[in-house]
Amino acid sequence: PHPQPVQPGLVGRLFGRGEKTEEPRRALDDDMLEELEDMLVQADLGVDTALRVTANIAEGRMGRRVSSTELKELLAAEIARIMASVARPLPLYPKKPQVVLVVGVNGAGKTTTIGKLASQFRAAGKSVVIAAGDTFRAAAVEQLQVWGQRAGVPVMVAPQGSDPASLAWDAMVRAEAEGADLLMIDTAGRLQNRQDLMEELAKIVRVIRKRDPEAPHNTLLVLDATTGQNALNQVETFRKLADVSGLVMTKLDGTARGGVLVALADKFGLPIHAIGVGEQIDDLDAFEPEDFARALVG
Ligand code: GDP
Repeated sequence: PHPQPVQPGLVGRLFGRGEKTEEPRRALDDDMLEELEDMLVQADLGVDTALRVTANIAEGRMGRRVSSTELKELLAAEIARIMASVARPLPLYPKKPQVVLVVGVNGAGKTTTIGKLASQFRAAGKSVVIAAGDTFRAAAVEQLQVWGQRAGVPVMVAPQGSDPASLAWDAMVRAEAEGADLLMIDTAGRLQNRQDLMEELAKIVRVIRKRDPEAPHNTLLVLDATTGQNALNQVETFRKLADVSGLVMTKLDGTARGGVLVALADKFGLPIHAIGVGEQIDDLDAFEPEDFARALVG
């Protein structure tokens, strides 16, 4: 299930009623393009991306009369084109353990996503170890243990408030000893104290690199689709804190438009490895650009 258009028929609204028997048509002129642009901004694409999408649709078509169906198709194709290059599952390496660092603000869905991913990896025959690296939030650690149980994956925890880097070290040692395929490390998401968080993440990376200079092999940034344009700021912030290699967008099952994904793809080009579509363990889908574009356009 991909995001439902929040404002269904937005494209249709650009056209008015028309005759009953025939779909209304409108010339692609400046007025129409301006309305289209507004509509895309409302749908969370952001001004820059909305302008670019509109310009691409206009190119070579000015003055042409289009129906609502035709415009939807043009729009969906343009959005799918932008998204095609970022739709990529999490790359798996033969490296053991492949270390996946998971970052994002609190509440974005890190814990849930780690549980879902662990379950998918298990189903694919991979052995997984999880490290509950947000050692300050007891609730996050407990949540992760619940997810570990559901996924059938061991979760390494440390005393509350202890150094996450030392837990990361222990988790590396264990994952190596067990020959685990993947080690997923949860991290804190306290953006209120950015300097602190930056040092904490840097220390985790430093420590695991002592055991594997190429680790972490992936740094996943988990974003909440319901935060809309704020997701763009989060990418900018976390790219300064960590070497973000890919994104997971959660909560695309709700009322979220998901339009911000287009802006993210256009602006950063980071791969979208998966999307969260619910709170259950199986609610993590591959990102499908064409389904997504069609659902967004409505
Ligand atoms: P964390 O603080 O980043 O670890 O976030 P959590 O994993 O604890 O998730 C925060 C809340 O969002 C929880 O109530 C989750 O059930 C919920 N959540 C996470 N992913 C999704 C999703 O894809 N869809 C929905 N509807 N809820 C989600």
